[in-house]
Amino acid sequence: MKNITILGSTGSIGTNALKVIKEKKDKFKVIGISGYSNFDLLKKQIEEFQPKYICIGSKSAAEELKILYPEKIIYFGDEGLKNMGALDEADIVLTAISGSIGIEATVEAIKKEKRIALANKETMVAAGEYINKLLKKYPKAEVIPVDSEHSALFQSMQGSGKNEVKTLIITASGGTFRGKTLEYLKNVTVEEALKHPNWSMGKKITIDSSTLVNKGLEVIEAHMLFNIDYDNIEVLVHPQSIVHSMVEFVDSSIIAQIGVPDMKLPIQYAFTYPDREASTALEKLNLKKLKELTFDEINSDVFKGVQLAFKAGRIGKSMPCVFNSANEVAVELFLKGKIKFLDIYEIIESAMAQHELKAIETLEIIKNIDKETRKWVYENYGRD
Ligand code: NDP
Ligand code: MG
Repeated sequence: MKNITILGSTGSIGTNALKVIKEKKDKFKVIGISGYSNFDLLKKQIEEFQPKYICIGSKSAAEELKILYPEKIIYFGDEGLKNMGALDEADIVLTAISGSIGIEATVEAIKKEKRIALANKETMVAAGEYINKLLKKYPKAEVIPVDSEHSALFQSMQGSGKNEVKTLIITASGGTFRGKTLEYLKNVTVEEALKHPNWSMGKKITIDSSTLVNKGLEVIEAHMLFNIDYDNIEVLVHPQSIVHSMVEFVDSSIIAQIGVPDMKLPIQYAFTYPDREASTALEKLNLKKLKELTFDEINSDVFKGVQLAFKAGRIGKSMPCVFNSANEVAVELFLKGKIKFLDIYEIIESAMAQHELKAIETLEIIKNIDKETRKWVYENYGRD
C-alpha cells in the first residue's frame, strides 16, 4: 500500500488522480489533499477519501473545516502547503498545483526523500537548476514526470542509457489557434482561447497551450528532468495528440509512447513506476479508428512561446524563472481581460530583456526573482 498526498486535489490533475486511486484502493491510500478556493469540492473529497491531512487557501476556510472534521489535521495557506509536502507518512507527493507557488512544497518533499509525481511543470522551469542540486543532496528522493510528454519520454527511455539518447522529440497539439495568422490572433477573446481541441485542463495551462508557451515550458522542463542539451530537443506539431512524445536514439531508432489523450495514464504510471498495472480507469486506444498521425514544424513567426523558452533556457540561471513568472502574470491579466492575447509574448520578451541575470543558488533568490518579475509586469502592464 502506497500513501499519497495530492497537492491541488481540486484541480484537473488532482481530480484525475483521485479517479486513478479510486480504482486501485488496494494499492493506494490518500493521506493528504489540498485545495485552494473550491471548498465544496474539497469537502466532498474529504468525505469520500477520508484523508488525515487537509490544506485549504484561507484561515477562515480552515476553521470551518476544523468544525466539520475535528479529528482531521487541517492546514492553510502557503505554510500549510509546505507542511503537506513534508508529511512523514507519505510515500508519494503528487504536485498538481498550478504555477510556481508549488516550488516550496516540492522542495520539502525532496528533503523528506519522497517520490514526487511532478505535474507542476512551473516548479521545474523556475527552479530546475536548484531542484537538481537538491536531488543530488537527497539521493533517495525521485521525480517522476506526470506531464504527458515527459511521461512519454521517460517511458520511451526505459532500458536505455543516457548516452544512447540523441534527441527528445516533444509533440504539441498546436493548441486552439493552430494554423491561425498573427492578424487573427490580435483580437481573440478569452473564451476562444479557453477552448482546447483535445485536452480538458485548468485555465492557466489551457491559455499556455494556445500561446504554445506550454510547449516552451515543457522544453525547459525536459532539459531539467533529463539533462539533455537544448540543441537535442525538438518540438513537432501533432494535432491528433496520440503520440505523446518520442525519443530518437543514436542508432536512429525512434521509440514513441502512444495512447488516448488522458492524463490518468501518466498519473498512474508515476504512482506505479517501475511497474505497470491494469486499471478500469484507463481507456484503450483503438488503433483501427486512427485515420492519420501527422507531424509538422511549429509556425514560430506566429507562436513565439517555444522560441522564447529556448532562448530563456539557453541563457539559463535565473532567466527560465523570469520567463515563467512573466508568463504567469501575463496569463492572469489576459484572463481578467486587461491585456490582449499577443501582449502575452510582448510581456515575456520585455520582462526577459529588462532582467539582470543571477545564479539561482538558494530558494530565497528564486522567490525574489519571481516577486520582482511579477511586480515589474504588474507595474508596466497591469494598471487599469
Ligand atoms: P487547475 O487550475 O485545474 O488546478 C490547480 C489546483 O491548484 C487546484 O486544486 C487549485 O485549488 C490549486 N491552487 C490554485 N492556486 C493555488 C494557490 N495559490 N495555493 C495553493 N493551491 C492553489 O490546474 P491543472 O490541474 O490543469 O494543472 C496543475 C498543474 O499540472 C499545472 O502546473 C499544469 O501545468 C500541470 N499539468 C496539467 C495538465 C492537465 O491536463 N490539466 C497536463 C500536464 C501538466 P482550487 O481549485 O481549490 O482553487
Ligand atoms: Mg504536457
